[in-house]
Amino acid sequence: MIAKRFDVLLLDLDGVVYLGDEPLPDAVDSINRLYELDKEIRFLTNDPRPTRRTIASDLRELGINAQEDEIVTAGWATAKYLAQQGVTTAAVVGSEGLETELQSEGVEVTDSDPEAMVVGADEGTSYRDIRRATRHIDQGAVFVGTNPDGSFPTPDGPAPGAGAVVRAVEAAAGTEPTVVGKPEPLMFEMALNGLGDDVRAVVIGDTPATDVLGAHRAGHTGILVADEEPTAASARDLQVPDLTISTLADLFTEGIETWESPPYSWPDEIRPGVAAVVRNDADEVLLMKRADKRQWALPMGSVERCEPVREAISREVMEETGLHVEVEELAGVYSHPAQQVFSYSSGKTVHFVTNCFRCTIEEGTPEADEEEALEVGFFDVNDLPPDILSMQPQWIADAIDISGSPAVR
Ligand SMILES: [Mg+2]
Repeated sequence: MIAKRFDVLLLDLDGVVYLGDEPLPDAVDSINRLYELDKEIRFLTNDPRPTRRTIASDLRELGINAQEDEIVTAGWATAKYLAQQGVTTAAVVGSEGLETELQSEGVEVTDSDPEAMVVGADEGTSYRDIRRATRHIDQGAVFVGTNPDGSFPTPDGPAPGAGAVVRAVEAAAGTEPTVVGKPEPLMFEMALNGLGDDVRAVVIGDTPATDVLGAHRAGHTGILVADEEPTAASARDLQVPDLTISTLADLFTEGIETWESPPYSWPDEIRPGVAAVVRNDADEVLLMKRADKRQWALPMGSVERCEPVREAISREVMEETGLHVEVEELAGVYSHPAQQVFSYSSGKTVHFVTNCFRCTIEEGTPEADEEEALEVGFFDVNDLPPDILSMQPQWIADAIDISGSPAVR
């Protein structure tokens, strides 16, 4: 059975165990059966309002014998995160429960010159709170959002979640927050803390964008509780669950493939890229040693807004090497995530779809632009430097052998 394949079950609460005050069908009996099977259970919620103690007591009222240390809320995780970062004072937009969790971790709640501005939300959140948060961030407080959820389910329909308020403050302050809750890996790490390195964990939730994506980013199997299979344009989308079940009772049936992490990170955005294979009269290829990656590479970059690809290529080659080039022919289009997902020191991860063109030199002598390149030079295609970006010998080969159609990889 599915449950037997895992040591730890990380259960989302809203939409999996209960909806509003009402338990969902089969949830209570199924969880008690998991306890009988000696499974470790952690209850994870992005709701930053209640304390862990309150949730444990609410679960016990439903007939689930949960303990406080089995509960991981976005509020508690935010408090732990701030304590780990050495933060001792924070202003708060959010509930008393959130303030209680912060104080329990030694973070004083104050509006007097706080080190951090913690934004959650509750029913009393107002325009004044958004203004207060904006001003603290403007004065230098670190902006921390408890969770990214724009809304959460209630029996009457969706209600605005903390993410809606976090994004309001972000718009007003012009600063991006650090967000703690799912799908960030931090909450899952905290949930598994102390259970050993090689436990087999599964995340069970009702929201692909937080529960399933978070599970996969943290390297765990993700099961979706939903009436229908979700649709996704790409099977590689990390929001695609490993299994969809209709209630927790389905955990005692057969059939799941466990998750294996792919060799790339989940990108924040997709960008069109350009690259140039430029050859000189001796048929050598132009390479630059990139200042950011300290590896040899073709001249390349992004297409900017409203910029035709042809102009983007000649601009990038000019900026990086000082050469004027004529853009000749499309040699290949490259988008495989294993090669085309890059993480930057800013914390952003970008998936490039790169159009690589064969180019000829119109005029100029190559010269390294200080900010972009450590060195620029021409290389024999049969004697490329060993520290070249791993996919680019293939791109160069595709550009030289352009007899057929462009390569699509
Ligand atoms: Mg949920």
